[in-house]
Amino acid sequence: MLPPFFKRTTIGTLVGLVCAASAHAQTPSTVPVTTTTSNQLVLESATMNLKADPCTDFFEYANGTWLKNNPIPADRSRYSAYDEVTERNLTALKQIAEAAAAGEVKSKVGQLVGAFYASGMNEAQIEKDGATPLKPQLDAIKNIKDKQQLMAAIASLHKEGVNALFGFDVQQDAKKATRYIPQLMQGGLGLPDRDYYLKTDAKTVEIRNKYQAYVAQMFALIGDAPDVAKQNAKTVMDLETRLAKASLTKVALRDPEASYHLSDLNGLHKIDHFTSWPTYFNAVGLNQPGQLNVAHPKFIAEAGRMINGVSLDQWKTYLRWHLANDYANELSSAFVNAHFDFYGKTLAGTKELQPRWKRVLAKIDMNAGEALGELYVAKFFSPEAKAGVLEMVNNIKDAMRESIGKLEWMSEATKQQAYKKLDTVMVKIGYPDVWRDYSALHIDDGSYVANVARANEFEFNRVLSKLGKPIDRNEWGMTPQTVNAYYNPTMNEIVFPAGILQPPLYHVNADPAANYGNTGATIGHELTHAFDDEGSQFDAQGNLKSWWTKQDQKQFLARVKTIQDQFDEFNPIDQLHINGKLTAGENIADLGGMKIALQALRTSLKTKPQAPEIDGLTPEQRFFVANGQSFRSLIRDESLRLKLATDPHSPDKYRVIAPLANMPEFSEAFSCKGERSPLRHGSKQVIIW
Ligand SMILES: [Zn+2]
Repeated sequence: MLPPFFKRTTIGTLVGLVCAASAHAQTPSTVPVTTTTSNQLVLESATMNLKADPCTDFFEYANGTWLKNNPIPADRSRYSAYDEVTERNLTALKQIAEAAAAGEVKSKVGQLVGAFYASGMNEAQIEKDGATPLKPQLDAIKNIKDKQQLMAAIASLHKEGVNALFGFDVQQDAKKATRYIPQLMQGGLGLPDRDYYLKTDAKTVEIRNKYQAYVAQMFALIGDAPDVAKQNAKTVMDLETRLAKASLTKVALRDPEASYHLSDLNGLHKIDHFTSWPTYFNAVGLNQPGQLNVAHPKFIAEAGRMINGVSLDQWKTYLRWHLANDYANELSSAFVNAHFDFYGKTLAGTKELQPRWKRVLAKIDMNAGEALGELYVAKFFSPEAKAGVLEMVNNIKDAMRESIGKLEWMSEATKQQAYKKLDTVMVKIGYPDVWRDYSALHIDDGSYVANVARANEFEFNRVLSKLGKPIDRNEWGMTPQTVNAYYNPTMNEIVFPAGILQPPLYHVNADPAANYGNTGATIGHELTHAFDDEGSQFDAQGNLKSWWTKQDQKQFLARVKTIQDQFDEFNPIDQLHINGKLTAGENIADLGGMKIALQALRTSLKTKPQAPEIDGLTPEQRFFVANGQSFRSLIRDESLRLKLATDPHSPDKYRVIAPLANMPEFSEAFSCKGERSPLRHGSKQVIIW
């Protein structure tokens, strides 16, 4: 469920959060705030194309001029409203980091951010060092003597943020959300998804070949002779392909039951009797793991068979690769460029590497993001934005309640449970009430690699230390500067970082119709995640426990099927269609979010009316146009293919045109009838929430 640009709490794929915006490997989530630094509004009429027919080509109507005038920057694989905000804020963050590096910010976090930034910007030293900063870890791998030591080495690499073999994490117990438990899950791949190892179409084969060449290149960079490097790349490919075969698909991962298998050390031994798991747990600092979730038992069983059957030398090869790959961006330009050539150019179509300062800020955001956020929020976040958004949240929650009340397909018994869940949704806006304590993290202006490794270890230990403690309701899964938002089902909370609350996404001075169509729909989107095909399986307390009557559940799933079918029809590029099952949760959230945001706007207009027309648009037309503009974006072909294969969000254009086609309110607002129906031929309007 979690896009790769999310801050990684620890190793492996974080499951549980669902967010508003799409995954974007090249976009740092480094990005803040404010409603004061931009002249942009939430709805820019000059960026529309009034010649296009809103009924049949709404994306072009709302965005045509913008799409024409905003080519994708060379260092991006996509350019969108979210990226506009990201770029603006990167510039602001740069000023903060430079001031901190110059010693002008006199605080612990100021020192931390300044030293981290200085170490990352010291290009001359980084170039001179080449692969040397990895020497201690490479030596440790070389010295592994047996399979026990192999498990200890994997534990050390996990602590330093390396994606080795499987994932380990500490999360809320999905069926007892009042406690934290350790979790073992699938992981250990270098390509973005299992399918990249297994599909046989020409494009995938080409990517796979380029990947193997890139792996060989990395081995050469850490000192292997060319023919050895080639052979080692083949070993990596073989091992990862075995892991891929044992991995669940992205669609299967959307079923929370499929990733829940409560166990303990004895149970784990039954799943995999080859591996010395106590050695691993001891090495991560967990002597008594107690109950734990073996999220993906088939994968762990296969990993165990592989640990037993594959030679130590082959494992050393595999670990050296993942170490070099995960730290490539902190090393000299030979590593950085090789990494970019594959992950940036080949996979995402990006033309140019981002300038160093952007990459360093992204890394700090990833590794010590709340320190950066603390400095940013102090300077840029306005209390007015928080108050304005909170008012919208309350109105949208009311609208959701009203909408549930009117559902014809749902019984009163289930409705009462739905209200209960809605009433307990927690709301977080802007930034955490209590800032993360970084006092145990040492960062200096010396080795950039060492800083990143220590920051990873700090984060690993922070997460591990949650075991046995009460749930931290103050914790945030995104940094304040992130241009995104999320719903977390085990916390039953919606979270809006300061970063998303600024133009062209939100403006305190915009007309309500524009704000409700944009940020209002995002609020509605996150709230609807509590009731999408995945979120609806969790109850008000965040437990994976059904609160539905059997009949209502059946009705709901039949409706989910209709939206899956609708999106399966869309064919954005080549022969590739949107995957209706992969994107169902986000598509349900988009549609539900629009409906309840519009309803909330209508209620709000009764007490706070706005002009009958602004720029020739009625309030309801402005609502829809603002929504269309919030999704304005261009994407490179390679990135679109990657997105269709891996991202639970549909491409932006379809996130606009599909919900509108399902809303009679839209056709009414733009007088769309007959031939000019926004609905695809043969398609039926979907009604869920
Ligand atoms: Zn979402």
